[in-house]
This record gives sequence, structure tokens and C-alpha cells, in this order.
Amino acid sequence: MESNECTECDYGTVARYRVTATQEIVQFCDECEALWDAEEDRTSPSVTTIEQFLTVRGLPLLRSGLVPLV
Ligand SMILES: [Zn+2]
Repeated sequence: MESNECTECDYGTVARYRVTATQEIVQFCDECEALWDAEEDRTSPSVTTIEQFLTVRGLPLLRSGLVPLV
């Protein structure tokens, strides 16, 4: 599998981020916003999106609360 290609939409790029408010590490697609836990290998379908993830935690839907990891 191509390392950063999104398996949900097939054209987005998945990157890892730290959620500042909770210090959780997640990975999500910049196109379809499909989200996986940091340890998931993304061969399994995404069960949530970054928007749902933030909403469930009562966090603002802002990218500024997410720190990209390299
Ligand atoms: Zn995608």
C-alpha cells in the first residue's frame, strides 16, 4: 500500500497530527477527513472523521488545535 494515500477516497493524503487539547495522536485524510487512530494501519475502513472526533470531545472544529507530525 502506498504509505500516505487515503484508502477511503483514493486521492487524499493521510497525515498524522497531535490533538493539542487531549495530546492524542490521530491520522486523517485532508480530502475526505476520514480518521484513524495513530496505531491503525488503515487497511481497515475508517469509522469516523476528524469532525466527529472533535465534536465528540467538545473541541472546536479548527485545524489550529491540531499539530502536524513529521
Ligand atoms: Zn480520503
